[in-house]
Amino acid sequence: MKKAWFLVVAILFLTSQVWASGKGAHVSPSEALKKLVEGNNEFVSSHDPSYFEPYQTSQHPFVTLITCSDARVHMTALLKDPIDKMFVIRNIGNQLVVSHGSIDYGVLHLHTPILLILGHTHCGAVKAAMGDYRKETEAIRNELDHLHLPLSADKGEGDFESRWLKNVERNVDWQVAQALSFYHDLVQKGELVVVGAVYDFINAYGKGYGRMVIINVNGVTCPDAIKKHPVTRKLSEKIKNLVVGAHH
Ligand SMILES: [Zn+2]
Repeated sequence: MKKAWFLVVAILFLTSQVWASGKGAHVSPSEALKKLVEGNNEFVSSHDPSYFEPYQTSQHPFVTLITCSDARVHMTALLKDPIDKMFVIRNIGNQLVVSHGSIDYGVLHLHTPILLILGHTHCGAVKAAMGDYRKETEAIRNELDHLHLPLSADKGEGDFESRWLKNVERNVDWQVAQALSFYHDLVQKGELVVVGAVYDFINAYGKGYGRMVIINVNGVTCPDAIKKHPVTRKLSEKIKNLVVGAHH
């Protein structure tokens, strides 16, 4: 009897742990709003009016960044202060087609020299697209459907973790290829470089937790060729070895 109760408690505990992962922060709406208002208040009081002056009439980003909406991926992992520096488009699975207009705006109107497509390790959108998502809402299904093509090369072999990472990379490569077709002329003229990278918060590449690992530059995926690409010429050899990664 004692054993049975222990089992019930253990199962309940484990189930709650599974639910707890990826289900939000468990705060009430009022607590959540309080956090936001307080955070913003801190920002207001720590920034002088002169901080806002340079960008009151226009924005000056040097990168159009398309990344996943995942809460674990944030601009501050790339720049301490991303304000007025990054034009950011986010959706589940860092996809071009579902936000094409916004990306056009960054590339064609704001003329950012870099279009960075940033996927990430343990991407829930990629995982969902690998499985059965028929029970999701129509809107979610529509967005996930676009991940089917990049993931179609997955033959379902090997352990799940490595398939998952491989599919994150496939998706980044696929998005880069799409960007190269959308912005072919700009890339040809050297006015735009499309960079594909994976933000790695599990240290899957062994390059450090939180590393942005560059795996694709204008469709080039060979690490040695990426290191020779002119876009990387301002990086030291040491840094290149740290940030340029091979596909899994
Ligand atoms: Zn994701």
